[in-house]
Amino acid sequence: MSSTNRLKELRNQIDPINLQILELLNKRAEIALEIGKVLQEMGTRFYDPQREAEMLTALQYVNEGPFSNGLQLGNDSFELIAGPCAVESYEQMDQVGAALAARGVKMIRGMGYKPRTSPYDFQGMGEEGLKIARQVANKYGLVVISEVLDLSLIPMMDEYVDAFWVGARNMQNSFLLRALGKQSKPVLLKRSFGATLKEYIYAAEYIMSSGNHQVILMERGIRTFSEWTRNTLDISAVPLLKQETHLPVIVDISHSAGRRDIANSLGRVARVSGADGLMVEVHPNPDVAMSDAKQQLNLDQFNHLMDDIESISMGHKQPAV
Ligand code: PEP
Ligand code: MN
Repeated sequence: MSSTNRLKELRNQIDPINLQILELLNKRAEIALEIGKVLQEMGTRFYDPQREAEMLTALQYVNEGPFSNGLQLGNDSFELIAGPCAVESYEQMDQVGAALAARGVKMIRGMGYKPRTSPYDFQGMGEEGLKIARQVANKYGLVVISEVLDLSLIPMMDEYVDAFWVGARNMQNSFLLRALGKQSKPVLLKRSFGATLKEYIYAAEYIMSSGNHQVILMERGIRTFSEWTRNTLDISAVPLLKQETHLPVIVDISHSAGRRDIANSLGRVARVSGADGLMVEVHPNPDVAMSDAKQQLNLDQFNHLMDDIESISMGHKQPAV
């Protein structure tokens, strides 16, 4: 069949579907109006965010694609990705999940595998950790993002996560990047602490040129002579990456500083930098965390950060340039 005929045939399939969608939307609207009347009689408010969240979670749960459940990034909003450095227990994730949901944060870190500098340090709970992350995310209507350390883990992780995460140490693992380019889920790609922006953009292109254009960038600080921070947050990367790529850009305020006492300042900077969001590590009890204890925020500190971010009023995001 010629391309023109194939196109005509496919378009013919779309037209009746449009009519069905319209009919269903009208049916839904009629019922929603009835619900509104009943709620009015009962004296309750028309918009019930709890019910909206339940419906959304139920839909996301049964959704098998090709629509992804979507990381809501790159539009006009400023979104947070938060959660502990690593999944350590159900209770730990449950406490964080509840705190995130209460503040409207939709994306949780669900790290089962940790790339550690020392082989003797905690390496993560593995698949068990991913199961916990999924359970908690379903309970609170959150999206799970999790670091994939090796391409052999992709099929297993696909069962649990909504998006894949490539850590700084793997930014130039072209085999991994290409494999993720063949996935249908979004890929969050962190900048390596030693990579130029050009190298970083090439890494993103490995994913996109393999077919997956849902790439999210994350600036996480680069290595400099700074003694008082773990890395140095390269904030100029934000407007430059936005200018050069048009991909969503997130700022990691935890690994860039490596210390929680300046997290709020960096959060405010991220907010006004033109970034699409920030990433912060949150743990119910950071002092006993099995990794990155010094930089994780406790739940009170997380709430303060949220207050700070929300207090910065921006009609629209700052222009990237
Ligand atoms: C992380 O965000 O969990 C992490 C390990 O950071 P990075 O890859 O930037 O070192
Ligand atoms: Mn960490």
